[in-house]
Amino acid sequence: MPDKRNYYEILGIDGKASKEEIKSAYRTLAKKFHPDLNKDNPKLAEEKFKEVSEAYEVLIDDNKRARYDQYGHAGVASDFSKDGFTWRDFSHISDLEDIFGHDIFSDFFGRGSIFSDFFGARKRGFEQPEERVKRVQVEITLGQAYRGVSTEVAIPRMDVCADCGGSGAAKGTTSNTCANCKGRGEVQQEQLQGFGRIIKIGACPYCRGRGKIIERPCQSCHGSGEVQKLDKINVKIPPGVDSGTTLRITADKGSGRLKEDIYVIISVQTHPIFHRQGSDIYMEKTLTFSEAALGSKVEVPTLDGNAVMKIPPGTQTDTLFRLRNSGMPLLKGYGYGDQYVRVVVRIPKNLTKRQMELLEEFEAIEIKK
Ligand SMILES: [Zn+2]
Ligand SMILES: [Zn+2]
Repeated sequence: MPDKRNYYEILGIDGKASKEEIKSAYRTLAKKFHPDLNKDNPKLAEEKFKEVSEAYEVLIDDNKRARYDQYGHAGVASDFSKDGFTWRDFSHISDLEDIFGHDIFSDFFGRGSIFSDFFGARKRGFEQPEERVKRVQVEITLGQAYRGVSTEVAIPRMDVCADCGGSGAAKGTTSNTCANCKGRGEVQQEQLQGFGRIIKIGACPYCRGRGKIIERPCQSCHGSGEVQKLDKINVKIPPGVDSGTTLRITADKGSGRLKEDIYVIISVQTHPIFHRQGSDIYMEKTLTFSEAALGSKVEVPTLDGNAVMKIPPGTQTDTLFRLRNSGMPLLKGYGYGDQYVRVVVRIPKNLTKRQMELLEEFEAIEIKK
C-alpha cells in the first residue's frame, strides 16, 4: 500500500483547524469531487470524494482526531475495516445530506454502485423488524357483520424471486463472494475501548450478511432476491363482529396455503340508516302528524328485513321505541341486541284546502275543550 496522505493535507487545513474550518473545507471538497460534476473522470472523483470523507470522518471527531494526532494513521486503523476506510465506516451521512440535499441517496449514489449498497443497507437498518404475526385489514358491510360472511383475503408474503432464483443478481451476471467477510456473512470488529479492546461480531454490513456482493442487481427484486406474493385464503367471519374485531387465522400446515399465522382485523362500514352501538342498532323513523296522533302500525327496516311497529295514539316526537332482539347478534354467546327507533313527527306542509278546513275545525274543537 502506498503511503497514506496526511488528513490535514487532504482537507487543505492546518493542524489547529477548528471544527467550523474542517466542516467548511469538507463542504467545498465534497462539492468539488461530486462524481456528477466530474463526468470526464467520475472514477477518480469518487476516489477523491472517499479520501476527503475519510479525513473528515477522523478530524471532525475529537476522540479520533486526538488518536490520529498522537499515533498517525495507526491510531484510527481500528475504527475502519481491515483494509482501510470504506463507506460503511462513514458516520456523517446527515452532513452529506446537508450539502447535497436529501436526494443524495437516489440521485448521487446510483443503483449498482458501492455507495448504494452501503447506504441502502444503512437506511434499511433503521426500519423496524417485521412483526412475526402479519395483520390484514378486511372491510365488510353492516349486513355482512350481521349475518357473518365468508370472504377471500389476500395476504402478502415474501417469496424467492423467480427471475434470479433468489441470488439477487441480474440474469447473466454473477455475484462475487464478499471480500470483507470472505463469504461468511458476518464480521468481527476489534474496537479500542478505554485501554482495552473489544471484539464485536455482527452481520457484515458490506454484503448485509449474505456473504455475496451483487454487481448488477436483478430488475425484478432490486437485488433483494425476494418478491412479494399474495396468498389468497378464505376467511370465515362470524356474525356479530364489529370494527376492530381481530380474528387469528392459524397457519395451515397441511395444505401449506397459509404459511404463517395472520391477524384479520375487521372494519365495518357505516350504514346510511342504521347506527350501531355495541350490539344495539339505532335508527330514526318519520311519522306523519296523524300517524302519531291517532296511532298506527308502521313498517321499519331491520337488518333482518322489515318489521311492523305499533305506534300508540298520542305519540310525541323523539319517543324511543324498542324492537327486542332486532339488533346485532352477540359475538360471544347466544342472542341479539335490540333495535331502537326514535320517531320524528313531521308537521305537514303545503296543505290542500280540504286539509286546512279539517285542521281549522280540529283547532276550534280543541279550544272549546
Ligand atoms: Zn460480507
Ligand atoms: Zn430477482
